Amino acid sequence: STGLMNGKRGLVMGVANNRSIAYGIAKALAREGAEIALTYQGDALKKRVEPLAAELGAVLAGHCDVADAATIDAVFAGLEQRWGKIDFLVHAIGFSDKDELTGRYVDTSEGNFTKTMLISVYSLTAVAQRAEKLMTEGGSILTLTYYGAEKVMPHYNVMGVAKAALEASVRYLAVDLGNKAIRVNAISAGPIKTLAASGIGDFRYILKWNEYNSPLKRTVTIDEVGNSALYFLSDYSSAVTGEVHHVDSGYHTIGMKAVDAPDI
Ligand code: NAD
Repeated sequence: STGLMNGKRGLVMGVANNRSIAYGIAKALAREGAEIALTYQGDALKKRVEPLAAELGAVLAGHCDVADAATIDAVFAGLEQRWGKIDFLVHAIGFSDKDELTGRYVDTSEGNFTKTMLISVYSLTAVAQRAEKLMTEGGSILTLTYYGAEKVMPHYNVMGVAKAALEASVRYLAVDLGNKAIRVNAISAGPIKTLAASGIGDFRYILKWNEYNSPLKRTVTIDEVGNSALYFLSDYSSAVTGEVHHVDSGYHTIGMKAVDAPDI
């Protein structure tokens, strides 16, 4: 530990288990001295998150279903009581019906489109509204996105459309909150085998494709996303906002591989 996050407190949303990207970020934050609070979605995940919170010395901030505004309010009211203010917020939340994370985008239903946008996009704005009130000395908000926002990826479908809207939200929120020294950024992570990712069609093939075609010739880990997140959540990025930063072994730079490019 470098003590980079000493004296900083914040909320990490989106830990489901020890493979979650949010867990990789929480681990890095705790290692560098941050005090963290974790939310969980429902009792089933509470059982998984409780021991992880204990391991990290983190506080449990309670159940939060971002589709239920009262649960968001309860979490932030609890944080206000406990800490008075917060310095950072990690939003690592996304959802879409897995039946529509396969096949054609054109077949997306209105119901799942709306639900995907509510949980994966609007929730960032919903939590930013509450965080604004607690970030009285400025702060850093970080969300997670994917390259499927920029280019068409097979099976990613409505989630790609949602991530495009999420990345636009990062820019609008950055402008609105900038005068309060609240920064808003996103990490665009390469594919990682998590609970959410297992709902995406042919995910193992997507992992292999990235391994073969990225400049670093490998996929990324949740610990690497966690270490990159430290930059955004600490004062090292004090002049950075509205940014979408790729942590993807460089995959996003590739237009086409050379014919004689070595395979792994
Ligand atoms: P994960 O399944 O570990 O985490 C997803 C989290 O979203 C879970 O903790 C779940 O409880 C939460 N969530 C879903 N619906 C919710 C709701 N209604 N209310 C509150 N929480 C809800 O998977 P992950 O891959 O770590 O996902 C975290 C974020 O990273 C997501 O936004 C995802 O799109 C993004 N991401 C993932 C990858 C990848 O390949 N795994 C790549 C880039 C971006």
